[in-house]
Amino acid sequence: MQVDTAENEVESAAGQLRVEVLLPLALSSAYSYLVPSGMELQPGDYVRVPLGPRDMIGVIWSGPALATNEPGGPRLRAVRERYDAPPMAEVHRRFVDWVAAYNLVPAGMVLRMCLRSPAALGDPRMQTGYRYVGLPPQRMTPQRQRVIDVASNGLLWRSNELAEEAGVTSAVIRGLVASGTLVPEPFPADRDFGVPQAQAHRGLSKEQAAAAKILRATVAERAFSVTVLDGVTGAGKTEVYCEAVAATIAAGRQVLILLPEIALTSEFIRRLEERFAAEPAEWHSALKSTERERVWRGIASGDAKIVIGARSALFLPFRNLGLIVVDEEHESAFKQEEGVTYHARDMAVVYGSLGQFPVILSSATPSLESLANVDRGRYRYVALTARHGAALLPSVDLMDMRSAALERGRWMSEPLVAEVVKTLGDGEQVLLFLNRRGYAPVTLCRVCGHRMQCPNCDSWLVEHRFRRRLLCHHCGHDEPVPEACPSCGTENSLVPCGPGVERLAEEVAERFPTARIALLSSDLLRGFGLRDVIRAIAERRFDIIIGTQLVAKGHHFPGLTLVGVVDADLALSTADPRAAERTYQLLTQVAGRAGREALPGRAIIQTYMPDHPLMKALKEGDRDGFLAKEKQIRQGGGLPPYGRLAALIVSGRDQIETERFAKDLARLIPTAQGARVYGPSPAPMALVRSRYRFRFLVEAGRDFNIQAFLATWLAPVKPRGSLRVDVDIDPYSFL
Ligand code: ADP
Ligand code: ZN
Repeated sequence: MQVDTAENEVESAAGQLRVEVLLPLALSSAYSYLVPSGMELQPGDYVRVPLGPRDMIGVIWSGPALATNEPGGPRLRAVRERYDAPPMAEVHRRFVDWVAAYNLVPAGMVLRMCLRSPAALGDPRMQTGYRYVGLPPQRMTPQRQRVIDVASNGLLWRSNELAEEAGVTSAVIRGLVASGTLVPEPFPADRDFGVPQAQAHRGLSKEQAAAAKILRATVAERAFSVTVLDGVTGAGKTEVYCEAVAATIAAGRQVLILLPEIALTSEFIRRLEERFAAEPAEWHSALKSTERERVWRGIASGDAKIVIGARSALFLPFRNLGLIVVDEEHESAFKQEEGVTYHARDMAVVYGSLGQFPVILSSATPSLESLANVDRGRYRYVALTARHGAALLPSVDLMDMRSAALERGRWMSEPLVAEVVKTLGDGEQVLLFLNRRGYAPVTLCRVCGHRMQCPNCDSWLVEHRFRRRLLCHHCGHDEPVPEACPSCGTENSLVPCGPGVERLAEEVAERFPTARIALLSSDLLRGFGLRDVIRAIAERRFDIIIGTQLVAKGHHFPGLTLVGVVDADLALSTADPRAAERTYQLLTQVAGRAGREALPGRAIIQTYMPDHPLMKALKEGDRDGFLAKEKQIRQGGGLPPYGRLAALIVSGRDQIETERFAKDLARLIPTAQGARVYGPSPAPMALVRSRYRFRFLVEAGRDFNIQAFLATWLAPVKPRGSLRVDVDIDPYSFL
């Protein structure tokens, strides 16, 4: 709603008020605008202001203050309009500034993430309903009578609902509207956010109840704290942190539950809806724009009490946020790599400290970062050691693939096949896990050895047989599989090399022709079609599930008792310092899908490295041993969480120019005690989307101000043309 409108631009600033308005652009500071007389403004207000020839939505960052009329100073333009939305909370504005400063991005770019549904600032959408006012039509028919019977309760009806309820066509309704029997009336189209019920859960186990008590106490403190909720898969962590959620809403404050996007399933939403007898607000990339607006408004007004969202939900305009839960806190999906890079888990902790409220980090495999903070006494720690009810943790066996003697084009070892046969015979479900989309990771010519490569990237094209295309997983380039080798011209010479889930599905279908097979891979299930498949699996409408990491996370499949990890070594050979930790977490999660209820579960892990400490730890269930070793390695190398890292990625369209620019940059490295800079070196992915890439890595002690160092370094740097410098604080990707 437009409260105040200023048509005239005010040109003289003498004695007038001005405000500083942050705009959602790559700007580090706010711009000054005059306040038109009669317009009341306060910090946090959403306003429309002119910028060049356009108008933009911005947020008042400070002011109003008296404008000083500097001779020769810039002429200020005036705020055009103030929106009627509740102002952005002070803590939210400080959060925006903090995220910007920490990640070395302009504050305006962070604000842009807060203004993703600008239409939400407008008037709520209206819809037309119809009411029966007691005036029957002159010509009555049986259909019309049925409508009147239904509508005689005096309520406001949507036309299609009234037609359906009365069992008539929409033409009948239209006729009654024309005759004045049904009277149109506008009403807000947004569904209400229900009021969640905040009573405590009564059926918690002793261990769960003790954990819940601690979490509820952190809420009662109304102060900043971080608690790591560490519990084996299926221990009831969700049930337990829901107690803190209940305590927070009982205190009249809002809750944000952050989840990796792929764990945000309808199964999870329904579970929370049942727990709180109200539908939580959802926030993720697949949301329709009308729903986005509704949720944005509900959060700004405070009507939406429980919000479940992917990482970007951190930037929603909470009115009085009182708790953030980060579920699966170890997930690297919380790190945003594109545009504004930030780690949502770490930023959630910052938000808690700015807003003086508790943060809960929940995981079956907490990150080393969080555990190190527990060691340092900064975070609290609560453990759940047993699975809920009768469920036991799955037993883990390693299959040494060096002695498996696989036939060509086969990926399952005989012991794994035998276990699958047995499990299917018992009427239970099997999950085969392979973290590779598509049919085959490499396609090569069997005559000349040519490999099909992406024209834009430093990567092989992946065959997707379902779509009959070769795809680049980095830039999305795709092309048909050629008839002849593009290098030597031999026809039908291209062969797949290595397994992807589609190829594994072929082997499974051959070996188990009567089994009902579900293939779960993100490129086969666009968006949230996934939800239906997940439900079908839970209802046992499939026997064998083949999937990438999409299935590994968070799902609860009661009939699943066998997990087969087809290639456990995939992620281990990368340059990522967290490779072992991530593999451990992923395989623990995958194995944790088995035996989540009364039936005992089993995991078979196929590996060529059965002596790797992490494989041994998996087999022996020796998480502490693995973590101790991993901590030692990181500490020795000064790597996170015992040291700090930042990456600088220099990229450009021309290889020579980019390399020269990177070398020039190297000459500008400031001298500083406590930091070492490596590079520039060609990035492991030296070409992505037709851009050549060079990397610097900054390694520093934990107390070193890496942001100040980078700011000094980059201050004189002005990349031109296609050249770009991207900063990645606390990098999780080393490509
Ligand atoms: P986690 O989040 O630790 O993996 P969940 O909270 O998903 O574990 O719990 C696993 C399963 O056990 C879920 O189906 C959940 O509903 C059930 N469960 C856990 N604790 C209880 C409890 N106290 N009462 C009833 N069901 C429970
Ligand atoms: Zn590519």
